[in-house]
Amino acid sequence: MGTQRKYSLTARVIIGMVSGILVGLLLRTLFPENTFVQEYLVDGLFNVGGAIFIASLKMLVVPLVFVSLVCGTSSLKDISTLGRLGGKTVLFYLVTTCIAITLAIFMGNLFQPGAGADLTAATTFASSDAPALGTVIIDMFPTNPIQSMAEGNTLQIIVFAILFGVAISAAGKPGERIAAVFQDLNEVIMKLVTILMNVAPYGVFFLMSKLFVGLGVDAIWNLAGYFLVLSGTLLIHGLVVYSLFLRVFTGLSPLKFLKKMEDAVMFAFSTASSNATIPVTMETATHRMGVKNRVASFTVPLGATINMDGTAIMQGVATAFIAQAYGIDLTMGDYLTVILTATLASIGTAGVPGVGLIMLAMVLNQVGLPVEGIALIMGVDRLLDMIRTAVNITGDTAVSVIVAKSEGDLDEAMFNDPKAGEKQEELDIHHIKP
Ligand code: ASP
Repeated sequence: MGTQRKYSLTARVIIGMVSGILVGLLLRTLFPENTFVQEYLVDGLFNVGGAIFIASLKMLVVPLVFVSLVCGTSSLKDISTLGRLGGKTVLFYLVTTCIAITLAIFMGNLFQPGAGADLTAATTFASSDAPALGTVIIDMFPTNPIQSMAEGNTLQIIVFAILFGVAISAAGKPGERIAAVFQDLNEVIMKLVTILMNVAPYGVFFLMSKLFVGLGVDAIWNLAGYFLVLSGTLLIHGLVVYSLFLRVFTGLSPLKFLKKMEDAVMFAFSTASSNATIPVTMETATHRMGVKNRVASFTVPLGATINMDGTAIMQGVATAFIAQAYGIDLTMGDYLTVILTATLASIGTAGVPGVGLIMLAMVLNQVGLPVEGIALIMGVDRLLDMIRTAVNITGDTAVSVIVAKSEGDLDEAMFNDPKAGEKQEELDIHHIKP
């Protein structure tokens, strides 16, 4: 126990991540095609350990989203607040996504990573059309909330939880009793998040080792231009654009914000799923940034589903790259179509690994580019998926802070305290009673 205490959770997760990457790279260099390594370590220990970690994160998402959002909405004094909150949040999500994809298209055309690319990789990739706006909206309303929960349909759970919360606050005494139960449940679930975060260093280690044993590093060399332009744009958006937004709309320190994002960013990076990261993003928003639960419980799950700026950036750079590789000129109108389709597709698809590629297929279809082009970039997608997921959840948290500040729901003392939330993250398993 003594030695564990010396390191913060963040430091332990970093150690897990870095040692996982090193072990993976070492194993692939020292024991290529070794059956023991493959069977017992990669497909055995690493696979099982990593899969259990991801499963337990996902296990928390539905109860957490439902319970915290019911708490959030039932504590609103005035229901009209909800409309204002929702309107602002969606507006910020849409605006940041449009900026992201426009920046990506600009960078893609400035650096031309696809000019002269090798087209030999062509394999087929199935595509479907982007969902119509009407369908996206209808699909948000559940016919059976239990089924929505069983399927993990976040948007439907959000709609049901809001209605339930509103009903609680309108129900007088019985509503107050139920609200108290939900408040307690929320505390318990947040404790569960803490427990899980404390095993994260191991989970992250397993995920990284497995990934880096099998990662196609050669593919990165071949696609260095694409990789660099895309990751550079992701970094600019994640570090500069959000900082500007934060400064302009809240006057708060972007550096403090970025520093406090470290846990959530690492979880997003290792799981490549904004959805699986919801518990940690929520914890970061409420316990480290000072966003009140009634805002975070709404903005974080909503953002994980509809706000994917990193993914939108990938759509922009990839479209430009594929068009250049095939020597096809896209018009301004085509690019507008890309912006619209990518934004719409990001609303209708959940934040899970690799979903960006499916959205890209829709985008390419819409502007008449060969969908096979996806095969060109598939080899490097996993690593980029990790980076863009980190950007996605940074965007969700930035908007949560901005909206909370504008609603008077931000605890600025907590935001400015560099140590805030660290205590809650630590779990002393030897003295589990509070
Ligand atoms: N993995 C991303 C997310 O969960 C989505 C994607 O870009 O594939 O946010």
